[in-house]
Amino acid sequence: MNLLRLAGILAGVSAVHFAGASEHAAPASSAEHAAPAGHDAAGAAGQHAAPASPAAPAAAPAAHAAPAESLSAAEALGRLISGNQRFIAGKPEHPRQSTARRGALAGGQQPFAIVLTCADSRVSPEIFFDQGLGDLFVLRNAGNVVDDHVLGSIEYAVEHLHAGLVIVVGHSKCGAVAATVGGGNVPGHIHSIVESIEPAFESVAEMPGDMVDNTVRANALRAARQISRSKPILSAAVEAGHLKVVAARYDLATGQVVLLP
Ligand SMILES: [Zn+2]
Repeated sequence: MNLLRLAGILAGVSAVHFAGASEHAAPASSAEHAAPAGHDAAGAAGQHAAPASPAAPAAAPAAHAAPAESLSAAEALGRLISGNQRFIAGKPEHPRQSTARRGALAGGQQPFAIVLTCADSRVSPEIFFDQGLGDLFVLRNAGNVVDDHVLGSIEYAVEHLHAGLVIVVGHSKCGAVAATVGGGNVPGHIHSIVESIEPAFESVAEMPGDMVDNTVRANALRAARQISRSKPILSAAVEAGHLKVVAARYDLATGQVVLLP
């Protein structure tokens, strides 16, 4: 519990979240809560999965439903931090990656957290949070910037998959941030990424210290604000207490994820 409390303090999660462990509990029937086939991540990504024989009369859907994983935001954060500590210590458990887990998830998913992070090949959330299949709903692009596709995907995971936590993870020595801080012309579509990071850079331009790292932090915090203030769905979920959005920084050298104040 110390870990959860620490996570809560760092993330500013209110005591209410800790007390209300069942706040986001799944309905009594996990089958009701599980996403129907065809409404999984592939659907969110625009590749609509083939409808799983919709004519088939409700053939014991519970048997193939994903295990119920509804957690409060604080519990979800605690699980991520525990996993990250295992990863840092070099003692990952690689949980929930069995063929049995794969089979259990085939009929639906219920990820307990949404992660927005960088496309950098060294920044893989399932690995540094030591989680498994069906645990994390992950969005990645260079610089972990927010656009309509990212917002739409998060809305889907919140509305349909009932995930209650979003964590935006920037990272040390981010190339997209360094390109922004470096200035000058960037070719092709990279420009749109730099343009998205520029407001964060400008917000810390006068700050002492490492300009790239200051911008990494400001950029993750800004993305978290954009998500939590996004209308109409996400801001309403935050206000209703169904969604918590936090920002963090991943250190490439130590493997540690630290929540940003
Ligand atoms: Zn990066």
